[in-house]
Amino acid sequence: MSNPETRDWSAVVEDGVTKTNEPVSSAVADPEAATRRHEPHEPPREHLPERLYEKREFVHNKRIDGPFRRFKWFVMIVTLAIYYVTPWIRWDRGPYAPDQAVLVDLAHRRFYMFGIEIWPHEFYFVAGLLIMAGIGLFLVTSAVGRAWCGYACPQTVWTDLFQHVDRFVDGDRNARRRLDNAPWTWGKVFRRAFKWTIYLLIGLVTGGAWILYFADAPTLLRDFFSGEAAPIAYITVAVLTLTTVTLGGFMREQVCIYMCPWPRIQTAMLDEKSLIVTYKDWRGEPRGSVKKARRNPGQFGDCIDCTQCVQVCPTGIDIREGPQIGCITCALCIDACDRVMKDIGRPRGLIDYATLEDCEREAAGEAPRSPWRTLLRPRTVAYFLIWGGIGGALLFALGVRSHTELTVAPDRNPPYMLLSDGSVRNSYTLKLRNMESRPRRMEIALEGLPGAVMWTDAIGKNDAAASQTVTVPADLVRQVRAYVALPAGAKAQAFIFRLTSLDEQNESDEVTTRFDAPEEQ
Ligand code: SF4
Ligand code: SF4
Repeated sequence: MSNPETRDWSAVVEDGVTKTNEPVSSAVADPEAATRRHEPHEPPREHLPERLYEKREFVHNKRIDGPFRRFKWFVMIVTLAIYYVTPWIRWDRGPYAPDQAVLVDLAHRRFYMFGIEIWPHEFYFVAGLLIMAGIGLFLVTSAVGRAWCGYACPQTVWTDLFQHVDRFVDGDRNARRRLDNAPWTWGKVFRRAFKWTIYLLIGLVTGGAWILYFADAPTLLRDFFSGEAAPIAYITVAVLTLTTVTLGGFMREQVCIYMCPWPRIQTAMLDEKSLIVTYKDWRGEPRGSVKKARRNPGQFGDCIDCTQCVQVCPTGIDIREGPQIGCITCALCIDACDRVMKDIGRPRGLIDYATLEDCEREAAGEAPRSPWRTLLRPRTVAYFLIWGGIGGALLFALGVRSHTELTVAPDRNPPYMLLSDGSVRNSYTLKLRNMESRPRRMEIALEGLPGAVMWTDAIGKNDAAASQTVTVPADLVRQVRAYVALPAGAKAQAFIFRLTSLDEQNESDEVTTRFDAPEEQ
């Protein structure tokens, strides 16, 4: 039998003539040419090229237990718990800020994450986190292949959850297949209705949890069920319920294989040093049952063609055909094959995590290298350093950021006014930002403008001084109209507005601006 790995399926030799589906000019010019097109009226070719669109066969993957399955359980429980429970965690920020630990407060344009509060002008923190997430994925992919896809991607986690529901309601693989092929009886209708009700509940809880990240969770939940929540809340839950059930309950592996762009990107990032789930064909081939192998010692490889690895696969692929885009590297086939090998008394690892480089070494009879050498290589170290560098920079910026900020906008029309006593007055709009979750007293002072006095709309001209104190409410930007005056004869010049918090933090910010005056004076 020819090796399917090396065979060129697009051109097949039949009766001494190479026939291809591609247009071949010689087919017209010379019907006797050694290569010609397979004409439609000719009998079907022995080997047809793969179809572009495969009819879907629903995957009924079999239950399996093993170290990787248990790890998958662990990741699934942790990620689902994080998603559903996080909006209910409280975090005391004092009386002036919400007490929800993680909250995207769109109304007030804030993002709260435990002790961190991000304002709109600090969006670079969010951008930094997204960049870190991207580089983190590069790091994980180059080290352990598509581990994200196999364990932590929401599509994988929810598909796994729905597959467990299938198993709970309809039984394991064979029972589900039988039920799928059975005619519609009342029993089947009842089972389907029951299963789809569970699907719907999972979708509802998933969509419902999402909106809780955008408002106080207990209040929103009460409003939601009393019909008082905003229409957008109901719309969001409806859309997310629908997408969860459709993508996780029905489309499942189709999303990974056809819809998601990430496998295509990942494929480009894998190299011969990346860990992937691999079938060791040099050890497994040719395949043959235990009986055959006993009758013909040395004739068969370790694979007994039991197809357990295919039956447990959540995407329904056969890893023995080589690395493929449908493989999300969940490693359940490793669990299945290891169990088979144990049962028949052969060494584990016929299917295993391995790099292509190590596969070649093993096939040549050399010992595989330590997994640490696979993980610690220049590419993964470089990704880690970039990832860690960005994380360190973000932490540093977070640590040294000031919770006080000042912006100044001088009036330009008119730039100055002459008062009745000959003094010159300029007007400014100040914005005082207090990023603490408590009101703060702050001092606004003039620097570099000798003799100048300042007052505001709230502090009259009679109390004019070189500095003024105002209170800025918690977690807000207070706008202040400030008037600065110099005695008659003042010249145009630059000066500084300095804002200082009058508390233990003593934070300050300054803005250099301009005082305008008539040129003649
Ligand atoms: S589980 Fe192992 S032995 Fe069975 S078919 Fe798959 S590779 Fe072969
Ligand atoms: S081939 Fe194995 S690792 Fe790949 S998706 Fe299927 S079970 Fe998971």
